[in-house]
Amino acid sequence: MNLHEYQGKEILSSFGVRVQRGIVATTPEQAVEAAKEMNDKTGTNWWVVKAQIHAGGRGKGGGVKLAKTLDEVKEKASEIIGMNLITPQTSQKGKKVHQVFIAEDMYYPGEAEIEEFYISMLLDRVKGKNVIIYSTEGGMDIETVAEKTPSLIFSEEIDPSAGLQNFQARKIAFNLGLSGESFKNMVKFVSALYNAYIKSDATLFEINPVLKTSDNQIAAVDAKVTIDNNSLFRHPDYVKLRDIREEDPIEVQAGEAGLNFVKLEGNVGCMVNGAGLAMATMDIIKLSGGDPANFLDVGGTADAERVEKAFRIILADDRVQAILVNIFGGIVRCDRVAQGILDAYKNMRDFIKVPIIVRLQGTNAEVAKKMIDESGLKVISAITLEDAAREVTKALS
Ligand code: GDP
Ligand code: MN
Repeated sequence: MNLHEYQGKEILSSFGVRVQRGIVATTPEQAVEAAKEMNDKTGTNWWVVKAQIHAGGRGKGGGVKLAKTLDEVKEKASEIIGMNLITPQTSQKGKKVHQVFIAEDMYYPGEAEIEEFYISMLLDRVKGKNVIIYSTEGGMDIETVAEKTPSLIFSEEIDPSAGLQNFQARKIAFNLGLSGESFKNMVKFVSALYNAYIKSDATLFEINPVLKTSDNQIAAVDAKVTIDNNSLFRHPDYVKLRDIREEDPIEVQAGEAGLNFVKLEGNVGCMVNGAGLAMATMDIIKLSGGDPANFLDVGGTADAERVEKAFRIILADDRVQAILVNIFGGIVRCDRVAQGILDAYKNMRDFIKVPIIVRLQGTNAEVAKKMIDESGLKVISAITLEDAAREVTKALS
């Protein structure tokens, strides 16, 4: 689950990580109130108006603006709220901005002394360790730094059972070129950040920039936080942080129907039971000259209702030129699945414009094939994978 910057910062703060503080607002008037409140709280006279969308690179797209008066806060907030923000990390269509974060300006006079760093935390699945990736080159696109000056990116592996050791936090502060007060504050910052990463069951923390202020404080100016969906039962208070408006509507619909669905870019829709078989099916589609349009695991029960929902979700994508259904009938018999497919097909016959290739294997596979062949419907049956692949190739040519 991805979070907005302001939500990520709330979590960081709750674990004692110093952040650039602010208040979220959904109208220009609220933005002005928020700016006044920030002035009361922190004494700040300048504010940063920051678009809240699930994508980085907002600054480049005009979604982060400095305001030096309350009038400017109102003006910038009016510009940003409701805008369609296009950044290097959004699609070309961009994302609609529903709210802004009115934050304290932390780059106060003293530009010469401030420094921006990059720090992220994530799991290295191959090594089975957490890793902290960090760089002196904060505030810009880390991919560019990786490409142009890879020697300026460091990484530190953390054994999850031992946790972050103090010498590691010191090494990070040292490699970032800090000394004295800012060194001590960075050690504290990194330790608190790692603790927050573990306790919140995050799969990613990306803080870019981490700022060293002119008075040697260290704070998170930006926060990209992703929480492991599988851990949400442990964090009932995080569940409400989900913002469905930021998610692909088709994926939301699939989730509600209990389907594991991921949209891809290709032209062959697939409907499969079991994630492993779904992966193999995507390979078959590739081998047959197509490109998978999605990953879709219908799970154990492939009844008419679920199949119909799955068909509708796949067909909502107008790039789809054929659908390959690949079901292994183990617990659920193939003839039951075939009946489900036929019933669903009959219900939405007018809606289906592309060939459907059904490959059923397992218990009663022959019976199922016969049912499909004799149905008189435009559904092509197959039992072996080779046959199914050949039919997909034919459908695409
Ligand atoms: P992103 O563009 O989506 O990564 O959003 P960030 O939160 O990283 O902000 C983008 C840029 O805005 C930062 O790299 C800073 O250069 C600038 N910025 C952020 N906060 C402040 C601030 O408090 N004062 C000033 N002057 N600039 C800021
Ligand atoms: Mn950033």
